Amino acid sequence: MRNIYNRLRCFKRRNIGFTLIELIVVASIIAVLATIGSFSVLRSLEHSRERVCMDNCRQVEQLFQAEVLLKDDIDESEGLLSQFILDNGYTEICPSGGVISVLNGELRCSIHSPSDDDDEDGGAVPYLFIY
Ligand SMILES: [Zn+2]
Repeated sequence: MRNIYNRLRCFKRRNIGFTLIELIVVASIIAVLATIGSFSVLRSLEHSRERVCMDNCRQVEQLFQAEVLLKDDIDESEGLLSQFILDNGYTEICPSGGVISVLNGELRCSIHSPSDDDDEDGGAVPYLFIY
C-alpha cells in the first residue's frame, strides 16, 4: 500500500506544471488561430461594407426613379441624379469612403463597383468626395 502511495505522489509531482516546450507549442497554435481568425473577420467586414454600399446605391437609384415617376415633367439624366443626391443629403453612401459617381444612370463606387477595363473612367462624373 505504501508503495502505491509513493508512486502516486511521484506521478503527481511530475505533472504539476507544463514544460516550456508545451507552452511554446500552445502559444504558437493560438497565434496561428488568431491570425487566421483576424483575416476572416477583416474579410467579412469588407464584404459587409461592400454589400451596404451596393444596397445604398441601389436604394438611392430607386428613390430617384420614384421621384421621376411622380414628377412627369422631368427626364432622368445623370445630372439630375447627381443633383437629387446632393439635394437630399445622401452623403454617406459608401461606408468605406469610396467616391460615388454617376455613369449611365447608375451609381458607381470607386472601391466596390466592378470596374470596366475597356471604359476606364468613361465619362463618369464624380460629384461626391467622402474622406
Ligand atoms: Zn463603396
